[in-house]
Amino acid sequence: MEAFIHHAQYNFIREQGRKLVGAYVTSQDSAVLEAIESLVEDDVLSEFPNRTEDQQRLLLSIKNMNTKEDLDIYLEMLKAYVHPWKISEKKIEKLFPKVKKLNVPEVDEMDLRNYSYLSWIDQGSRKKFIVSEENGELIGVQGTFTPSNKDGICNICQEHESLGLFLTEKKGKELGTYSKKGNYICKDSERCNDNLTNLDGLQEFIERVQ
Ligand SMILES: [Zn+2]
Repeated sequence: MEAFIHHAQYNFIREQGRKLVGAYVTSQDSAVLEAIESLVEDDVLSEFPNRTEDQQRLLLSIKNMNTKEDLDIYLEMLKAYVHPWKISEKKIEKLFPKVKKLNVPEVDEMDLRNYSYLSWIDQGSRKKFIVSEENGELIGVQGTFTPSNKDGICNICQEHESLGLFLTEKKGKELGTYSKKGNYICKDSERCNDNLTNLDGLQEFIERVQ
Protein backbone atom coordinates (compact mmCIF):
# COMPACT_ATOMS: atom_id res chain seq x y z
CA MET A 1 0.00 0.00 0.00
CA GLU A 2 1.29 3.44 -0.91
CA ALA A 3 1.29 6.53 1.26
CA PHE A 4 -2.23 8.02 1.36
CA ILE A 5 -2.32 10.13 4.53
CA HIS A 6 -1.26 13.76 4.75
CA HIS A 7 0.39 15.26 7.77
CA ALA A 8 -2.67 16.92 9.34
CA GLN A 9 -4.77 13.78 8.77
CA TYR A 10 -2.16 11.77 10.63
CA ASN A 11 -2.40 14.21 13.53
CA PHE A 12 -6.19 13.93 13.39
CA ILE A 13 -6.02 10.12 13.61
CA ARG A 14 -3.58 10.46 16.52
CA GLU A 15 -6.05 12.78 18.28
CA GLN A 16 -8.86 10.27 17.76
CA GLY A 17 -6.64 7.48 19.08
CA ARG A 18 -5.86 9.52 22.19
CA LYS A 19 -9.56 10.13 22.71
CA LEU A 20 -10.16 6.38 22.62
CA VAL A 21 -7.29 5.53 24.95
CA GLY A 22 -8.48 8.29 27.32
CA ALA A 23 -11.94 6.69 27.36
CA TYR A 24 -10.48 3.29 28.26
CA VAL A 25 -8.54 4.89 31.11
CA THR A 26 -11.55 6.65 32.60
CA SER A 27 -14.47 4.31 31.87
CA GLN A 28 -15.33 0.65 32.30
CA ASP A 29 -18.82 1.05 30.92
CA SER A 30 -18.91 -1.05 27.76
CA ALA A 31 -21.82 0.95 26.28
CA VAL A 32 -19.86 4.17 26.68
CA LEU A 33 -16.72 2.63 25.22
CA GLU A 34 -18.61 1.19 22.29
CA ALA A 35 -20.19 4.56 21.57
CA ILE A 36 -16.79 6.27 21.58
CA GLU A 37 -15.26 3.55 19.40
CA SER A 38 -18.01 4.06 16.89
CA LEU A 39 -17.54 7.86 16.90
CA VAL A 40 -13.80 7.48 16.40
CA GLU A 41 -14.40 5.04 13.58
CA ASP A 42 -16.81 7.41 11.81
CA ASP A 43 -14.57 10.43 12.27
CA VAL A 44 -11.45 8.68 11.00
CA LEU A 45 -13.18 7.14 7.98
CA SER A 46 -14.87 10.42 7.05
CA GLU A 47 -11.40 11.88 6.43
CA PHE A 48 -10.90 9.35 3.64
CA PRO A 49 -14.04 9.20 1.48
CA ASN A 50 -12.18 7.57 -1.44
CA ARG A 51 -10.42 4.92 0.62
CA THR A 52 -9.58 1.46 -0.67
CA GLU A 53 -10.42 -1.69 1.28
CA ASP A 54 -6.83 -2.04 2.46
CA GLN A 55 -6.77 1.54 3.64
CA GLN A 56 -10.07 1.04 5.43
CA ARG A 57 -8.74 -2.05 7.22
CA LEU A 58 -5.66 -0.16 8.35
CA LEU A 59 -7.69 2.83 9.54
CA LEU A 60 -10.27 0.74 11.37
CA SER A 61 -7.69 -1.15 13.38
CA ILE A 62 -7.43 2.02 15.48
CA LYS A 63 -10.44 0.59 17.38
CA ASN A 64 -8.20 -2.08 18.90
CA MET A 65 -5.80 0.43 20.40
CA ASN A 66 -6.93 0.58 23.98
CA THR A 67 -3.68 1.49 25.71
CA LYS A 68 -1.10 4.21 25.09
CA GLU A 69 1.50 1.55 24.24
CA ASP A 70 -0.75 -0.04 21.60
CA LEU A 71 -1.55 3.37 20.16
CA ASP A 72 2.13 4.34 19.94
CA ILE A 73 2.90 1.15 18.00
CA TYR A 74 -0.08 1.75 15.70
CA LEU A 75 0.93 5.36 15.04
CA GLU A 76 4.51 4.34 14.30
CA MET A 77 3.21 1.82 11.77
CA LEU A 78 0.78 4.36 10.28
CA LYS A 79 3.63 6.82 9.74
CA ALA A 80 4.80 4.65 6.83
CA TYR A 81 1.64 5.72 4.96
CA VAL A 82 2.10 9.46 5.42
CA HIS A 83 3.07 11.48 2.34
CA PRO A 84 6.22 13.49 2.75
CA TRP A 85 5.66 17.07 1.63
CA LYS A 86 7.23 17.51 -1.82
CA ILE A 87 9.25 20.63 -1.34
CA SER A 88 12.82 21.60 -2.12
CA GLU A 89 15.17 24.49 -1.36
CA LYS A 90 15.04 25.53 -5.03
CA LYS A 91 11.23 25.67 -5.03
CA ILE A 92 11.28 27.76 -1.86
CA GLU A 93 13.82 30.20 -3.27
CA LYS A 94 11.60 30.77 -6.30
CA LEU A 95 8.77 31.91 -4.03
CA PHE A 96 10.83 34.87 -2.84
CA PRO A 97 12.64 36.14 -5.95
CA LYS A 98 13.27 39.61 -4.52
CA VAL A 99 15.02 38.40 -1.38
CA LYS A 100 18.78 38.31 -1.75
CA LYS A 101 20.73 35.48 -0.12
CA LEU A 102 17.65 33.90 1.37
CA ASN A 103 18.51 31.57 4.18
CA VAL A 104 16.38 28.50 3.37
CA PRO A 105 16.07 25.61 5.85
CA GLU A 106 17.73 22.40 4.75
CA VAL A 107 14.52 20.64 3.85
CA ASP A 108 16.35 17.60 2.45
CA GLU A 109 17.50 16.86 5.98
CA MET A 110 14.01 17.14 7.48
CA ASP A 111 11.32 14.52 7.90
CA LEU A 112 8.79 16.18 5.59
CA ARG A 113 5.97 13.96 6.82
CA ASN A 114 5.82 16.23 9.86
CA TYR A 115 4.91 19.49 8.16
CA SER A 116 1.92 21.18 6.57
CA TYR A 117 3.79 24.46 6.49
CA LEU A 118 7.33 25.61 6.93
CA SER A 119 8.44 28.69 8.80
CA TRP A 120 11.77 30.20 9.72
CA ILE A 121 13.38 33.51 10.64
CA ASP A 122 15.95 34.72 8.13
CA GLN A 123 18.90 36.02 10.14
CA GLY A 124 19.98 38.42 7.39
CA SER A 125 16.71 40.28 6.84
CA ARG A 126 15.28 39.51 10.34
CA LYS A 127 12.06 38.50 8.65
CA LYS A 128 9.86 35.52 9.19
CA PHE A 129 9.11 33.43 6.13
CA ILE A 130 6.20 31.03 5.81
CA VAL A 131 5.70 28.48 3.04
CA SER A 132 2.49 26.58 2.64
CA GLU A 133 0.62 24.78 -0.12
CA GLU A 134 -2.91 25.04 -1.42
CA ASN A 135 -4.36 23.00 -4.29
CA GLY A 136 -0.91 21.72 -5.16
CA GLU A 137 0.60 25.19 -5.39
CA LEU A 138 3.25 26.53 -3.07
CA ILE A 139 2.59 29.86 -1.43
CA GLY A 140 5.20 32.00 0.29
CA VAL A 141 4.59 34.94 2.64
CA GLN A 142 7.00 37.07 4.62
CA GLY A 143 6.64 39.54 7.46
CA THR A 144 8.07 40.75 10.72
CA PHE A 145 7.65 38.67 13.85
CA THR A 146 7.49 40.04 17.37
CA PRO A 147 7.30 37.49 20.21
CA SER A 148 4.56 38.28 22.70
CA ASN A 149 4.74 37.87 26.48
CA LYS A 150 1.30 36.37 26.79
CA ASP A 151 -0.10 33.07 25.60
CA GLY A 152 -3.27 32.79 23.56
CA ILE A 153 -5.00 31.09 20.66
CA CYS A 154 -2.82 30.65 17.57
CA ASN A 155 -4.46 31.75 14.32
CA ILE A 156 -3.01 28.77 12.45
CA CYS A 157 -3.44 25.74 14.74
CA GLN A 158 -6.20 27.22 16.97
CA GLU A 159 -4.49 25.90 20.12
CA HIS A 160 -3.49 27.78 23.27
CA GLU A 161 0.23 28.42 22.87
CA SER A 162 3.08 30.91 23.24
CA LEU A 163 2.51 33.44 20.49
CA GLY A 164 4.14 36.14 18.44
CA LEU A 165 2.73 38.80 16.13
CA PHE A 166 3.30 38.14 12.45
CA LEU A 167 2.92 41.40 10.58
CA THR A 168 2.74 41.78 6.81
CA GLU A 169 2.60 44.92 4.73
CA LYS A 170 0.57 45.11 1.56
CA LYS A 171 0.60 47.82 -1.04
CA GLY A 172 -2.73 49.67 -1.04
CA LYS A 173 -4.81 50.60 -4.05
CA GLU A 174 -3.54 54.16 -4.06
CA LEU A 175 0.08 54.76 -4.85
CA GLY A 176 2.31 54.96 -1.79
CA THR A 177 -0.30 53.59 0.62
CA TYR A 178 0.21 50.46 2.66
CA SER A 179 -2.01 48.36 4.81
CA LYS A 180 -0.64 46.24 7.61
CA LYS A 181 -2.09 42.95 8.71
CA GLY A 182 -1.19 41.32 11.97
CA ASN A 183 -1.92 37.81 13.16
CA TYR A 184 -0.90 36.08 16.35
CA ILE A 185 0.64 32.69 15.62
CA CYS A 186 2.72 30.12 17.51
CA LYS A 187 6.30 31.10 18.28
CA ASP A 188 7.29 27.51 17.75
CA SER A 189 6.25 26.40 14.28
CA GLU A 190 7.30 22.77 14.87
CA ARG A 191 4.83 22.65 17.74
CA CYS A 192 2.22 24.44 15.64
CA ASN A 193 2.56 21.85 12.87
CA ASP A 194 2.24 19.10 15.44
CA ASN A 195 -1.03 20.68 16.63
CA LEU A 196 -2.62 20.76 13.17
CA THR A 197 -5.44 18.25 12.75
CA ASN A 198 -6.93 20.03 9.72
CA LEU A 199 -5.79 22.76 7.36
CA ASP A 200 -8.67 25.24 7.76
CA GLY A 201 -6.87 27.63 10.10
CA LEU A 202 -3.69 27.53 8.04
CA GLN A 203 -5.53 28.26 4.79
CA GLU A 204 -7.53 31.11 6.28
CA PHE A 205 -4.38 32.60 7.77
CA ILE A 206 -2.52 32.44 4.45
CA GLU A 207 -5.45 34.09 2.64
CA ARG A 208 -5.46 36.93 5.17
CA VAL A 209 -1.76 37.70 4.99
CA GLN A 210 -1.06 36.94 1.34
ZN1 LIG B 1 -0.08 27.33 16.19
